[in-house]
Amino acid sequence: MTDLTDLTLAEILTAMRAGALTSLELTRACLERAERLEPALHAFLYLAAEQALDKAAQADRQWAAWRLDPRQTLPPLLGVPLAVKDVLCVQGMPCTCGSRILEGFIPPYHATAVERLLAAGAIVLGKTNTDEFAMGSSTEHSAFGVTHNPWDLERVPGGSSGGSAVTVAARLASVALGTDTGGSVRHPASFTGVTAIKPTYGRVSRFGLVAFGSSLDVVGAFARKVEDAAAVYQVMAGADERDATTSNLAVQLFEPAPAAHKPLAGLRLGVPDEYFITGIQPEVEAAVRAALSVFEQLGVIIQPISLPHTSYALPVYYIIAPAEASANLARYDGVRYGRRAAGGNMWDVFRRTRGEKFGPEVKRRIMLGTYALSAGYYDAYYGQAQKVRTLIRRDFISAFEQVDLIAAPVTPTTAFRIGEHADDPLAMYLEDIFTLPANLAGIPALAFPVGFDQQGLPVGMQLMAPHFEEQRLFHAGCAYQQVTGWHQASPSLQGSKI
Ligand code: GLN
Repeated sequence: MTDLTDLTLAEILTAMRAGALTSLELTRACLERAERLEPALHAFLYLAAEQALDKAAQADRQWAAWRLDPRQTLPPLLGVPLAVKDVLCVQGMPCTCGSRILEGFIPPYHATAVERLLAAGAIVLGKTNTDEFAMGSSTEHSAFGVTHNPWDLERVPGGSSGGSAVTVAARLASVALGTDTGGSVRHPASFTGVTAIKPTYGRVSRFGLVAFGSSLDVVGAFARKVEDAAAVYQVMAGADERDATTSNLAVQLFEPAPAAHKPLAGLRLGVPDEYFITGIQPEVEAAVRAALSVFEQLGVIIQPISLPHTSYALPVYYIIAPAEASANLARYDGVRYGRRAAGGNMWDVFRRTRGEKFGPEVKRRIMLGTYALSAGYYDAYYGQAQKVRTLIRRDFISAFEQVDLIAAPVTPTTAFRIGEHADDPLAMYLEDIFTLPANLAGIPALAFPVGFDQQGLPVGMQLMAPHFEEQRLFHAGCAYQQVTGWHQASPSLQGSKI
């Protein structure tokens, strides 16, 4: 048998069904690996080892009972180890959002996404590292230290859900949860060579997710392959009365089609010129173009398209997201929320708490957002950005009249070195150039690995679909992974420090 931590969801569940694998064995294997690799990777902010082992033993008892009476229906992810980004509440586990201001906060309730996964039988291994309040593209903005990319420990894993991506890439967890406000699920998936789904805005409840940009935030999943990401997605998705933006549309269940000669015959795949800009690393473009040829062999019709407002996505996002963040983060004043800094009068407490406990990137966003929302500038910045956001959304709606899916790179380059963008926030923001448009439009997107650059770093590509058409993404991504092996590659982690 291959290493247990290498198994896909389908392999895990088949082996557990057959009694050839227990959840305890798998959970223990993940935890032992985490213990060995954590000093080099720092993917977790909190490991719930004992609790996970208890839950795994419980899951095994359920499996054993089922084997005696297989007519029972079992929860779909029974005994599967899951890592959770530290911006989602898991009852009883610390939730810091990568920030000093939330140090010591232990939520008394579960986020809906987590609650549904627990009800489906998943085992939470722990909470993963993130850029502070999910603001960033490298995990370097975490107040608790950077997460390292398992393909090259000197490089970032991308972000902001870098910790979660690394747990899946380095085989510390079978699946993981992240959040995507401007690319934070797809970006680290691309840098670490794993598959990830960013669902339609409103498809997964945000209840229990610490808010960053409320009109953009969505919970997504990381996995080894498309079917696994789909399995996690469909457990989390669906209406929730505690989040009024969730949709009542029924969640369709994904059934992978058997491998066929031209499984995607007739599917129209749009390739926007605006995503193949100068400055993109040639190996990234080459790998994405090679993937497009694979799609062609699968029967897809490639169609050049234009999304003319793409270049505005970056400035629009960096007004709207900070504006929403500045409002959402106003509550951390040491009185209503947040760990209080000592001070004299009330204003002094506010100033010190926020001044001492927010990191520089969060402060930058709060200042940008407050400025953009201030009287006299509101129309010029926030109001204008909202109008351009509508144009970006319309670009997609009209493109989807001609094509079924849109293909693009996820990031302009492969993983960069730790510290490379440290003094240049704009260079960091440019990382998000290809991921932001889907968030502004609210559409779903699937990221998956399509090759490596010459240094052996993974390259990712994304497919985007119309609102609520996640099934189309899974169908196409799954067909691609049936004929390619990029998603099976795993980092050797043979570095000198390990
Ligand atoms: N990198 C983007 C930002 O810094 C997106 C973050 C996210 O999706 N959470 O805002």
